[in-house]
Amino acid sequence: MKEITLIPGDGIGPEVIAAAKRCIDATGVKITWETVSGFHSMVESIKENKIALKGPITTPIGKGFRSLNVGLRQTLDLYANVRPAKYYPGVKSLFKDVDLVVIRENTEGLYAGIEYAKGKADTKKLISFVKKTLQKEIRSDSGISLKLTSVMASRRIVEFAFQYAKKNKRKKVTAVHKANILKYSDGLFMRVADQVAKKYKISFEQKLVDNMCMQLVQKPHLYDVLVLPNLYGDIVSDLCAGLVGGLGVAPSGNFGEKYAVFEPVHGSAPKYAGKNKVNPTATILAGVMLLRHIKEEKAADKLERAVVKVIKAGKKVTYDLGGKAGTKQMADEVIRLL
Ligand code: NAD
Repeated sequence: MKEITLIPGDGIGPEVIAAAKRCIDATGVKITWETVSGFHSMVESIKENKIALKGPITTPIGKGFRSLNVGLRQTLDLYANVRPAKYYPGVKSLFKDVDLVVIRENTEGLYAGIEYAKGKADTKKLISFVKKTLQKEIRSDSGISLKLTSVMASRRIVEFAFQYAKKNKRKKVTAVHKANILKYSDGLFMRVADQVAKKYKISFEQKLVDNMCMQLVQKPHLYDVLVLPNLYGDIVSDLCAGLVGGLGVAPSGNFGEKYAVFEPVHGSAPKYAGKNKVNPTATILAGVMLLRHIKEEKAADKLERAVVKVIKAGKKVTYDLGGKAGTKQMADEVIRLL
């Protein structure tokens, strides 16, 4: 019996997590779920169980406490965020030939959480330090967020991307950045990516993030595994989710040396909370990733096939896929077709 941490989250989290848990249990894999909430309990439980299935958690925008999601990734050093974007027949989408995986650095970049608030004494000190050392002016009414890019974090994320490509028989890795402008941060990422790529026989290229966005909306079939620093990874992975029918069908996995946390890419969508309305697919597919991680390949294949069948049939699906079913009813149908 495998013990796994279950974090329902808030907003639509509890509904999609309940749906995914039922589907995973219905595959026959024996799991004891440890349900937790609150940052401390989540961390302790994941440290114990090593693996979690997590629902979205609301973060207030521009004020209040720091994101629990970001905190969890940093505390557990879940440095690699893997977001597959795969087209499933039946999903309303502009493209039919997309099977991409976005691998996002999860711990540093602009999301390292090192920020200086406007007008504070330390912010003033930093502004005068920059003026003294770089002869550059920062306006006195500025807030400042630092972008951190280390050799260590860049190397391990690019290594992770190549290892993922090798293990999953992927053909190409593309490193994405803005090294022409951000010479010391993205430039470093670019050089490290080049070094790592030399060790592998997998095709490799580098792209600037603005060009990458245009390429992805014009010819996504040319790309396979993308590896990106934190902020670009966050944005580009939502773009890729949009290419294959939206957030309702986009799962993700967060991996570190010791722990793995699986979750939908979408947030807590508060306006739909408690309405039995949203699509459980992203969380069920996060469950498929979890099953593969614990080497329950057969159960994972079975569950993914059932989801594909339900989406393809197009009858018992949620509003975003053009149907009238609720979260529970769509999960029921997946279970029926297992
Ligand atoms: P969101 O993903 O919650 O919702 C945006 C829109 O996407 C929704 O209004 C809805 O139209 C659609 N959508 C999302 N999930 C769906 C589903 N399962 N089925 C069908 N449609 C779906 O994004 P947001 O409104 O920007 O964020 C809400 C909150 O969630 C914020 O506090 C944000 O910080 C948080 N968030 C948490 C996580 C996480 O826990 N990992 C991730 C992203 C956002």
